[in-house]
Amino acid sequence: MSIFSVYIANEMAFAHSAMIRGINSIYNQAPHVHKAKDIADFLFFVRSWADWVGHHHQWEETLMFPGFEKVIGEAGFLQSNLDQHHAFEPGLKKLLEFATHTKVEDYKPDVLRAIIDDFANGLQGHLKDEIPSLLAMRPYDSAGLLAVYKTCEAAAGKQEKPSLRPTTDNAMLSRATRLLPKSIVSTLKLPKTTFPPRGASPVDQALYLKKCTDDLYAWQRQNRSDHTAFVLHDGPPYANGDLHIGHALNKILKDITNRCQLLKGRRVDYVPGWDCHGLPIELRALELWRQSQPESASHETPPATVVREKARALATETVEKQKKQFKEWGIMADWDNAWKTMDKAFEIQQLEVFQKMVKKGLIYRRHKPVYWSPSTRTALAEAELEYRDDHVSRAAFVKYPLHVPSIHKGLIKRLGGNPTDISVVIWTTLPWTLPANRAIGFCPSIDYVVARSRRHGRLLLAHSRIQEVEEKCEETLTEMVVFKGSDLYSVCYEDSLWSNQPHIRLLLEADHVTGESGSGLAHLAPGHGSDDYRVCLSRKIQPYSPVDDRGCFTTDACPKDPTLLASKSVFTDGNLAVLQNLESTGALLAVHDYVHKYPYDWRSKAPIILRATRQWFANVADIQNAALESLEDVKFTPASGKSRLESFVCNRNEWCISRQRAWGVPIPALYHSKTHEPLLTEGSVDHIISIIAERGMDAWWTDDELDPTWTPPSLRQTSGETVYYRGKDTIDVWFDSGTSWTQMQPDDDRKPVVADVYLEGSDQHRGWFQSSLLTSTACQDGATLEDGKTLAPFKHLVTHGFTLDKAGTKMSKSFGNVISPQQIMDGSLLPILTKKGKDGAQRKIQDSMGIDALRLWAASCDYTKDVVVSPEALKKINIVLAKYRTTFKQLIGLLNYHDPSTASPRLEHLSTNHKIALTHLSSMEETVAAHFERMEYHKAINALNRYVTSDLSAFYFESVKDAAYCGTSVQRAAVQATAYEILGVLQDVLAPITPLLIQEVQHHLPEALRSTPHVSLTSRQIQPRPAEGVSSRQGDLANVELDLPALMDLLKAVQSLQEQARSDKKMGPALQSYIAIVPRDMTGSSKIRKLMLEYADDLDDIFCASAVQLMSPAFTPSSEVEWHYVQEIETVDEKVLVYVFAPQQQKCVRCWRYKAPLNVEEALCERCVDVLQNLKKDRPELFVEGAMDTGGTSAAVVGQR
Ligand SMILES: [Zn+2]
Repeated sequence: MSIFSVYIANEMAFAHSAMIRGINSIYNQAPHVHKAKDIADFLFFVRSWADWVGHHHQWEETLMFPGFEKVIGEAGFLQSNLDQHHAFEPGLKKLLEFATHTKVEDYKPDVLRAIIDDFANGLQGHLKDEIPSLLAMRPYDSAGLLAVYKTCEAAAGKQEKPSLRPTTDNAMLSRATRLLPKSIVSTLKLPKTTFPPRGASPVDQALYLKKCTDDLYAWQRQNRSDHTAFVLHDGPPYANGDLHIGHALNKILKDITNRCQLLKGRRVDYVPGWDCHGLPIELRALELWRQSQPESASHETPPATVVREKARALATETVEKQKKQFKEWGIMADWDNAWKTMDKAFEIQQLEVFQKMVKKGLIYRRHKPVYWSPSTRTALAEAELEYRDDHVSRAAFVKYPLHVPSIHKGLIKRLGGNPTDISVVIWTTLPWTLPANRAIGFCPSIDYVVARSRRHGRLLLAHSRIQEVEEKCEETLTEMVVFKGSDLYSVCYEDSLWSNQPHIRLLLEADHVTGESGSGLAHLAPGHGSDDYRVCLSRKIQPYSPVDDRGCFTTDACPKDPTLLASKSVFTDGNLAVLQNLESTGALLAVHDYVHKYPYDWRSKAPIILRATRQWFANVADIQNAALESLEDVKFTPASGKSRLESFVCNRNEWCISRQRAWGVPIPALYHSKTHEPLLTEGSVDHIISIIAERGMDAWWTDDELDPTWTPPSLRQTSGETVYYRGKDTIDVWFDSGTSWTQMQPDDDRKPVVADVYLEGSDQHRGWFQSSLLTSTACQDGATLEDGKTLAPFKHLVTHGFTLDKAGTKMSKSFGNVISPQQIMDGSLLPILTKKGKDGAQRKIQDSMGIDALRLWAASCDYTKDVVVSPEALKKINIVLAKYRTTFKQLIGLLNYHDPSTASPRLEHLSTNHKIALTHLSSMEETVAAHFERMEYHKAINALNRYVTSDLSAFYFESVKDAAYCGTSVQRAAVQATAYEILGVLQDVLAPITPLLIQEVQHHLPEALRSTPHVSLTSRQIQPRPAEGVSSRQGDLANVELDLPALMDLLKAVQSLQEQARSDKKMGPALQSYIAIVPRDMTGSSKIRKLMLEYADDLDDIFCASAVQLMSPAFTPSSEVEWHYVQEIETVDEKVLVYVFAPQQQKCVRCWRYKAPLNVEEALCERCVDVLQNLKKDRPELFVEGAMDTGGTSAAVVGQR
C-alpha cells in the first residue's frame, strides 16, 4: 500500500470532505503519484471510499466538492446507485484531473469552512484565537470564507510545512482523524484487491490467453488420459477468405461446449480441421496465374499442376491466418495436430472410403443430366445450388404436327374420321432445350381436346388449358372433340425443326405431367431434365445434350444449319436463335416472360443448366434407409433439425460426385486408351492408393499419361502393354469433408467412430451433415455392430442460425453489412465516447471490449434461430461483462484475509443472510448446470445475470457490508466462507464463457486461494473443496429455502418504503432507518410472527437496517418519531404491515449503524465497543496512550462500558 493509500484509508473512514481536500493536497504536492502503480492504488481506494460513503452517507454530502460533483454528474452517477460501479469508472479518471486541478477558489462554502477549522486546530498563537472572530466578521459565502482561508494559509506558511505522513502531527489531517484514535480506523476491514477495474493489459491478456487455451488443453490431455473422452468433431471451415462473425459464433459455441464438458470431468478431444479443395480456391489460383502471365497468354488455361501448386499455397496461407484468428478468440484445441483435407493422410483415408463404396457397388458412371454450371464449367451437387425466386425465362407455346400413320383407329374415330393437320401443343420455359427434344409427355387420366385455331390449324392440348392457351395466343379456340389422355398411347409426332429429315417421336405417358400448367403436354429433353431423363429411360430413349461446358450449343444442335445455333449461349443469343427458328417455321404459337424459381451456382451466382454428361455417381438409394434409421438414435438441437436432415437424405437417390476441376482428390478411375471404357474396381483403387502413398497425390497429374505404374500389375501382364490412362475428374468437395469422420480416433477399431457432437450452421443439413452421414453409412458393414444397426457419425447434432444485422438482413459481403469479430473485440462498433482532455480539447475514445465480450455475445445468442449483431446488443454485453468484473472484484476484496485451509464456519453457524445467499447460489448453479447440459447457453447467461444483479448485488453484498467491514472476526469469517463459495461457483459457471476473465480472477486471488498453475479451471475442479464447512451446503438450507419467499416479499416492501423515504429526503443509506414488522394476526398460528422470532438475530442484516422489530397489531410509531412510512402486503396468505421509520438511536462513529446511545458524543455501538476491547487485548500497540488521549472521546466510550 502506498503512502497515499494509507493516508486516504485513514481519512476515508469518517471525514470524507476532508479526504477530498487531502486528495487535492496530495496531488498538488506529489507529482510522482502519476506513476501507473500509484494511480491504480489511488483509484482503488477512492472506489472503496465511494463504496463506503454509499453505505453510510447521502451522496449530497460528497457533492460539496465541486470537482466531484462534476465528476459524478458526468458519470451519470447522480442517482447514487452503487450498482452502477462500472459507470463510475470513467468518472474516476475525471476525478484525477479535477483533484489535481481544482482551485481553492472553486470550493463550496462548507468545504472552505472545514478547512478553516482544521487550520484553526493546527495553528498556534494569536491567530488560532482570532479565527472565530475573523469568521464572524465575514459573510458565510465563498468570497467571505476565501478571505479567511487566505489569512490562515499565509499564517500556516510561516509555520511548519505540512508533511504527507499521517503518522506525524500533521496540520493537514482532518479534525475527525485526530479525534478518533487511529486504532479504530485500523479495525475496519476494507476490501482490498489488485484486480483491475477495467480489462487487463495486453501483456497480461496474452499470458491469460495462453494459460486458458493451450496450457489448459495440454494439461487435461496429460492429466485426464483415463477419463471418458468428449469428442466434438469439427466441421471444417473453408480455407479461403477472412473469418466473419458467423465463424466466431460457430467456433465459440464449440469451445463453450468443450469447456462445459471439461468442467464435468471429461477429457476433451477437439482437433480442428480445414476444408481446402474446391472451386473458390481454384478460381483464385487461376486469377493469380493469369495476372502473372503476359497479356497474350492470359486467356489460356494453365496445366493442372500449376493450378494445384498455386491453390495449395493459397490454402496453406489461409489456414495459418485463420488459425491465428481462431486462437485469438480463446478457442482451446489441439491446434498442432489440425487436419486439412489436402493433407496426404486425409486424402488417402478419403480414397479408402471411396474404395469401400466401390467394393459395395455404390459407385457408378452414367451419362445423364446433372447440374452444370456454365460459369464455372463443372458439374455441381444439389448442395452447391442456390435457388432464386425472381428468375425470368422466355417461355414458349410450340406446336408439333401429329404423325398421321401412328394415329390408331379408335382415335381416328373420335376425331371424326379426319386425323390430318392436327398439332400437339407443348409449353416450355426453356426453349433452348427444344433441339434436344426426344419425346412429348401426356397424362392418361385427364381430358384432352382438339380445338380449331384460325392461325394455327387444329391443336391438341389438355381440355383444362384451353383458356390459358387462348390468352397467350390472343385468339378464341373452337372446341371440336374431347377424349381421354389414354387415347394418346403409341401416337407419334414429327419434329423437323432442326433436321432436314423429320424425326418421328413418341407421345409418352409421363407421371410428372398434369392438366394444371402449360398445355398439359410436356416436351421431354432427357439430356436436360431429370424427370425427362427418368421417363425416357423407361423407353430406352438416350439422353442427348448438344450443349458444351460453356453452356453454348454445339454444331450438332441444328444439323440442317450447323451455324444457326453453334457457339451461341443457351441463356442469351442461343435461346433467341431457337425462338427465331420456331417462328420462321411456323411452330411458335406464343412467347411470354415467365418468373419462376431457378437454380444458381452458389459460388458464381450465375444460373445453371441441366446437362447430360458422363459423370460418376454414388448410389444413395441403397443406403438411404440405413442412414435414416441411424438418425433415430441421434439427438437434435433444435429438434426440427431431424426432419430437415431426413428430407435432404430422402430427396436424393444418387449423388453426382465427379467434378471437372484440378484442385481436388482425383476420382481414382483408369480409362482404356482405345475404348475409353472406365476401370474402377476395389483392386484398382487399392493399387492406386499404394502408388499415391509412395509418390504423393500430385503424381496423378504430373506422371506420364501412360505411365504403367498406375495400372494394376495383373492388367499390365495380360495386356502386355499399358493401355490405361488416368481420369481427370476430381471428387466433389462435399465428399472430401464428408469423410472427415475418419480423422476421429476410434476407441474400438471394430466399431464405427461416433462423435459426441457435430455443431454447425443450419445450411449444413444438405451439406456436411448429409455427406458425413452418407459416407459413414456407406462404409459400415451391418455386421460390425451386434444388432446390425448403422450408427450416424454423431450422437448429438446441433445447428445454429445465421448472423443478421440489426435490420434482420443476412450478413453478406455483397450487402456491405458484415461485422468482423475484430470489430467486436476492439469495441469499434460501440459509439465513440468524447472526452475532454487536460488541454481542454475534445478527444475520441474507443471502449475496447476484448475476447470475453465476443464470447459472451456468442453465448448470449439464442443460436437455434438466426442471431442479430447490433451495436445495441453489444453495448448490453459490455455492461454485463463490466458487472461480472465488479462482482469478482468485490468478492476478491472480501476474501483478502481469507485462508481456506483454516477452519471455515460450519453451515449451521452461519447467520441467515449467508444461508439465503447459499440458497440463491445453489439454485442458480443448478439452473445453469441444467442449461449447460442442454447447451442452452443463452438461458444459462440469463439465469446467471439475474442472480448477479438481484441476489448477489442488491441483496447479499448489501447485507454483509457491515459484517465485512466492521464485524467481529467470527462475523467476517462467515462472510468470507460464503464469499469463497460464491466465487467458486461463479468461476465454474463463467469459465466456459469468459475464460480470460476467470484466468485473470485466478491471477488476482490471494495466494492461498489460487489453483494449479496453468489451469484456468477453478480450484474446485483441480483441488476438490473440503467436505466440511459451508461447501457441503445441503440439508440445513432446506428451512431457509422454505422461508425464503416470505422473507424476500418483506424485503421488497422494506426496500420500496426506503426508496420513498429517500426520495422525500428523509433518509440516505438503508442503515438510516428502523423497521417494524406488524402481522395482522399475532396468535401462535401466524407464520410471519414465527418467522420473525426464528430469525430475530439476523433480521438487521437481512433487511440491511439498523433495527428490525416484530410489533403487535396495536403498534403505531410514537409522535416523537420524526417520520415513518407504512405499507400493507400479503405474503404466505397473511396480511402484514411493514413500517420504515426514523432511527431511534444515534449513529455509531465506527460502523455508522444507528445503534449508539443518544446523548453521548462520538458514541460507539455495543458491537463496536466489543471489537475495540478485543483488539486492545490482541494488539495493545494500536492503543498508544497518547493517541487515545488525543482522541479523547473514543477512549472514553470504550471505557464506558
Ligand atoms: Zn458500531
